[in-house]
Amino acid sequence: MFPNPANPLVTAPAETTILAMLLAESPLSRVELARRTGLSSTAVTKAARPLIDGGYLHELPPERTAPGAGRPVNPLAVTPDREFFVGVWIGPDGLHGTVCDLRARARAGAQRELGDRDPASVCALLAELVDELLDTEPEFRERTRHLGVVVGGEVDRDTGRVNLPVLPGWQDVPLVEAVAAATGLNVTVENDVKALTVAEHWFGEGIGTEYFAVVTVGRQVSSGLVVNGELVTGAYGAAGELGHVRVDPAGPPCRCGSNGCVEAIAATDAILAAVRRSAGDPALDFAGAVRLARAGDPDAQDAFARAGRAVGTGIATLVTLFGPERVVVTGEVPDALDLLDAHLREAYAAHCFKAAAKCALTLRPLPWEERARSGAVIGIQALFP
Ligand SMILES: [Zn+2]
Repeated sequence: MFPNPANPLVTAPAETTILAMLLAESPLSRVELARRTGLSSTAVTKAARPLIDGGYLHELPPERTAPGAGRPVNPLAVTPDREFFVGVWIGPDGLHGTVCDLRARARAGAQRELGDRDPASVCALLAELVDELLDTEPEFRERTRHLGVVVGGEVDRDTGRVNLPVLPGWQDVPLVEAVAAATGLNVTVENDVKALTVAEHWFGEGIGTEYFAVVTVGRQVSSGLVVNGELVTGAYGAAGELGHVRVDPAGPPCRCGSNGCVEAIAATDAILAAVRRSAGDPALDFAGAVRLARAGDPDAQDAFARAGRAVGTGIATLVTLFGPERVVVTGEVPDALDLLDAHLREAYAAHCFKAAAKCALTLRPLPWEERARSGAVIGIQALFP
C-alpha cells in the first residue's frame, strides 16, 4: 500500500537519513550505513525494516567476506521502480516533462509547445502532458503520486503561489492548487534554480557535500546555495542572486536599477546587445553573435570574454564568502559555453581568496531534460518531512 500522499513516507530521523543516503548511493551494507550516519547497527536495521516492508528497499544476496570476518552481510539497495515521479519545467516557450524513478533516472520524456499563455490554458496543457507521460508505461500510472513543477520565477512554497515574469498574467497564481486539481497528483512547486541545486546536491556532483553551489548562466544569471547540507532560501526569499553582484562599477545599467552587475554583462541579452553594437547590426540574433565570435571577430569575442570574466568574478565572490566544496556552472546556451569557459576560469582563479580556490568548478550545458528532472527530484523530496 502507498502511504497517504499528504504524509511523508519517512518521518523518523533514522529512516530519513538512511533513505536519503541510499537514494544517492546504493547499495550500501548496514555496517557502511552505520559508519557513515553515526547510527548503531541496530538502529540501521530497525530503521530499514519499514522501508524494506514497504518495498522501497531490498536486500541483496550476501557479500562474500574474508574467512573469520564474521557472518556475511546483505547490502541494502533502493528499489528504483517502487515509485515514479513526474517533473515538469514550465519554460518560456513550452512545457517539458519527464518521469523519473526513485533514483532520479529519467524513464520517459515529452514536451508541449505553449499556445495560450494564461494560467488556465497552461495548466490544462500541463495536465495533458502529465497524462501522456503516465500513459507511457502502465506501471507509471499505478505507482506515481508526486509531481514537481519548476518555474523560472518567484515561488512561495507555503502557499504554492507563483509569479512568473516570462509569462503574461502570471502574478500570484495558485499553481499548486490548479495543477493538483487538473492532475489528481500531489504537487510541489519550486524555483528552477533552487530545484536544480537540490537535484545536483542529492543525485549529482553535490552528493555528500555540506557546502555546494549551482550557478546558471543564460537569460539570467542565478545561483543556488547549499550550506550545512541545506538549501539556502534567504530570510526574504532572495538569496544567491549572483546575477546582481556588482563586478564593474563602470559597467552597463542593470534591470535591477544598479549598474555593472554580473547579469548586465553576462546575460544572453547583454552579450547580444554588446555584439549588436560593435557589429552595427541591430537585427543580429544570439546564434549570429556566436557565429561572429567563432569566425574570429575580435569585438564579438571580447563580448563573450567580458561575460565569462563577469561570471568568474561573481563566482569568486560567492566562493570566498561561502567556501563551497564545488560549484557547478550550467548554461542555457550550450553552444556558447566554451566561449566563456577560459575567461570565466581565469577571472575566478584571479579573484578567489586563498584556500577557497581549491573549490572545483565544472561547466556544462543545461538541457531541458535536466530541468524537468529537477522537478521530479522535488517530487522525490516530498517523501521526506
Ligand atoms: Zn542588477
